[in-house]
Amino acid sequence: MQTLPLISSHLLDQYPAVRFAFSTRSGGISPEPLGMNLSFRVGDESRNVVENRRRFFSHLGFAPEEAAFPVQCHSNRAVVVSRPGSYEACDALLTNTPHIPLAVSVADCLPLFLFDQRNHAVAAIHAGWRGTVASITAEAVRIMVGEWGSGPSDLIAYLGPGADVCCYEIGPDVADLFEPDLVEHREGKQFLNLKKANVRQLKLSGLKEGNIEVCQSCTICQPDLFHSFRREKERSGRMMGVIVLA
Ligand SMILES: [Zn+2]
Repeated sequence: MQTLPLISSHLLDQYPAVRFAFSTRSGGISPEPLGMNLSFRVGDESRNVVENRRRFFSHLGFAPEEAAFPVQCHSNRAVVVSRPGSYEACDALLTNTPHIPLAVSVADCLPLFLFDQRNHAVAAIHAGWRGTVASITAEAVRIMVGEWGSGPSDLIAYLGPGADVCCYEIGPDVADLFEPDLVEHREGKQFLNLKKANVRQLKLSGLKEGNIEVCQSCTICQPDLFHSFRREKERSGRMMGVIVLA
C-alpha cells in the first residue's frame, strides 16, 4: 500500500469502531494544480480521478465502489443510507451500516463528521455557508437522534480543513445571515468563522465541548496542503473526507 499524505482526527482515531481519513492535494496522478483531485466534476480526466479515488479509499481498506457519495447542493437535506452509490441533492449522509464509507467532497467548504460511540452510527456533512445557514449540521444530529436514538452527549465530532476566518472574506449580504460574533471585521472587510458557526450548532444540539475536534488548518492560506476554490477558482481540485464503521 502506498503512503498517502492524509489528515487524520486524533479524537476519531481513539475509537476502533470507526475509521476516518481526509485527503490533501498530494499523492495523486492528475496534472497540477489538480494533483490528488477526487472529483469528476472539475474537468479532470476521469481515469485520473478513478486512480486517485482508488488510492485514497485503499488507505481505508475499501474500493470507491463500496462508498456512498452525496451530490452536494448547499442544502440542509440529510439522507440515511444503507448501501453504496450516489445520492442526489443532499449535503449529509448518515448510516449505522458497517463497511459503507460516507464521503464528502470539498475545497473550502467545511467537512464535518459525526460518530455515535454508543450506537455506532456515523454522518458525513458538507457545510458551506449556505448549508450552515440552513442548519445542515443540527439537522444531521437531529436525524441521528430520531433514527437511532443517539444521545447527543455520546456523539464525537470532527470538523476538517476548510476556509477559516483568517481568509474567508464574505460580502455584507452573507454577513447579515450570521450572528455578529461569527463575523470578523478587518481593514473594511468581513470574514466568516464557519467552523465556529458549526461548533455552535453542535453545542446547541447537545454535544459536549470535549467531544468536538476542530482542525485548525485553513484551505485558502495553505496551498501546499489543500485545494481551495477561492484561491484556484475553476482550476481547483477537490479533497475528500471519508468516515466508515469498521
Ligand atoms: Zn487562511
